[in-house]
Amino acid sequence: MGVEQKLGVNKFVVDDGNPHIKVNKEICKTCGIKPCLVACPASLYTLKEDDISFDFAGCLECGTCRVICPKPGAIDWNYPQGTFGVVFRYG
Ligand code: SF4
Ligand code: SF4
Repeated sequence: MGVEQKLGVNKFVVDDGNPHIKVNKEICKTCGIKPCLVACPASLYTLKEDDISFDFAGCLECGTCRVICPKPGAIDWNYPQGTFGVVFRYG
């Protein structure tokens, strides 16, 4: 089974309207290399008309974006509230 297939069996309990990760898009505009675009294993950071777009719904809670982001204050990172978030089903 490949990585994408393994990720595909996970379940996400989404806390609608209450994102556990918030991204400051104004700070992102000052970020040159935007490593989040390639570092997030769930590909939740994308570019839309040169602006960062982020969808928290499929977050694996790995913390990579929090560690790799070079701009202080750009990412407000928290775990989801209890009962919400990813439910790993493989491994
Ligand atoms: S790495 Fe951080 S500052 Fe840069 S685009 Fe991504 S979230 Fe924004
Ligand atoms: S915590 Fe991991 S999966 Fe979630 S947005 Fe950051 S890099 Fe992506």
